[in-house]
Amino acid sequence: MSIRKILFLLVVVTLAVISAVDKAAAQSAVPDEVLNRVVAQEQALTKELAQYTPLVETYLQNLEPNEDLGTIPRSDNYFLGKVNLANGVSRNSFFSERGLTQSLLSGLHSVKYVPEGFAQMIIMDTSRFDRDHYGFEYIRRECLGEVRCIVFDVTPKVANMSGAFLGRIWVEDQDYHVVRFNGTYTNPGSSKVYFHFDSWRQEMGPHHWLPSYVYSEDSNRPHIPTSKGLHFKAQTRIWGYGPRHLGSENEFTSLTVDSGAVVDHGDVVEESSPVLSQRAWDREAEQNVLQRLEKAGLLAPQGAVDKVLETVVNNLAAANELAIEPDVHCRILLTSPLESFTVGHTIIVSRGLIDVLPDEASLAMILAHELGHIASGHRLDSKYGFSDRMVFEDFEAFHNVFIKRDDREEKQADQKGIEFLRNSPYKDHLASAALFLRALSERSKRLPNLLNGTMGNRLAAKGETLRMPELMQAAPTLELNRIDQIAALPLGARVRVDPWNNTIELMKTKPVHLISAGEKLQFEIAPIHLYLTRQNDEAKTAGKNQ
Ligand SMILES: [Zn+2]
Repeated sequence: MSIRKILFLLVVVTLAVISAVDKAAAQSAVPDEVLNRVVAQEQALTKELAQYTPLVETYLQNLEPNEDLGTIPRSDNYFLGKVNLANGVSRNSFFSERGLTQSLLSGLHSVKYVPEGFAQMIIMDTSRFDRDHYGFEYIRRECLGEVRCIVFDVTPKVANMSGAFLGRIWVEDQDYHVVRFNGTYTNPGSSKVYFHFDSWRQEMGPHHWLPSYVYSEDSNRPHIPTSKGLHFKAQTRIWGYGPRHLGSENEFTSLTVDSGAVVDHGDVVEESSPVLSQRAWDREAEQNVLQRLEKAGLLAPQGAVDKVLETVVNNLAAANELAIEPDVHCRILLTSPLESFTVGHTIIVSRGLIDVLPDEASLAMILAHELGHIASGHRLDSKYGFSDRMVFEDFEAFHNVFIKRDDREEKQADQKGIEFLRNSPYKDHLASAALFLRALSERSKRLPNLLNGTMGNRLAAKGETLRMPELMQAAPTLELNRIDQIAALPLGARVRVDPWNNTIELMKTKPVHLISAGEKLQFEIAPIHLYLTRQNDEAKTAGKNQ
């Protein structure tokens, strides 16, 4: 053996020894006490979750290969339920899911997505997460956003444990809560297929971490030979943990009663004219519906994002000299399917739609149509003025509140909307709005569930746009493989939801230079990498007690 070779070997051996020493040192830096606390926190969380009934939404896209873009969605599924975490995972669905839990046929084998399965991925192991059943290996320290974490690999210790977690965990270094875990469940000898997932938790109060988001993905599972076409990605969002006050508490406490005081209004006319009575009645119906949807966790509380939309509405109204009373307001529906609709004089746009809209002109296009409904006098069914109509279980909301418009009303709103747009500051920027509609209709055959609004009318179906087809005619050619033509954004591109109190804000993301057209991900799901933050104790306590 040459000297050189021996030297080289020596170096390799030394390196190996150093790395072993390194690892041992790191291991010993994680005392047993830390692992005991990790296990205790996880068991406490499992217990604590039993008291919540959050909303759990899963949106899934089946993928197929594409020459230009890598993969594109082939079809999609959507589940929305209110989940009871008391006994395992049980749920009440917002829809009848016969049409939604489509089996995915691939060869002779069919795979059925089970919504509960996605909800399950918020917890590692409900009954066996302890040091007798699991082994922990220290990997490294890493920051997730602002939160310093210790990273461990976790493996089941006992042979043949079915449904046991296998993967990696990130533990924050103050109280040792698991804030992220990533891996799969084991299933020796079972016909059940467990997917791979990346599950995140957020701090929702001082030292209070709860599940908020799961990304799952899988492809080409070789142990089901007939299903090698299986390829999907899915996002599961969880929100609505906290109690919902509807912002009415302050109004209630400000209600003072002057006992016995006789109020003299002088000449003020107290009676309403029939027209004003009708308006008051409509207003009451509108408020009933909005409050009920907010209480069900479907509508975000009033906030800053509403104001952004209202600015655009005001731009349209001012340019067209519209004087609408009472004022038009905007609210955000927290769900993913792309939709907009009006409830009285309130325009509601879904979070998913705000995510994918490429610019302000396309937002104006959506709002102009709804403003068209309001200006045409399309009212909300006045039966909602009766309070008893709002007595139903949260998950029955879509069956009890009917908002959809008929074709005649849709055409009228389109016509008025286009008129408003052409007469507004957005008139020279309508190409992007038209292109968005074209992209939407192009994808509508593949993504029927993303376009199946929970309450509003469909924007597009079966390859055709149903919203402002006249406007779409002006669209440039859709070039999916051109990097610089952004017709629509990915889902999750703009709006961040606070899973505790359902408030929303627009995300501050830096513009990114795309490397390939595949990165455009129009209307697509992307893995999420949450920027975790710690709650400032004082600020949060103040916020929670409001
Ligand atoms: Zn409409």
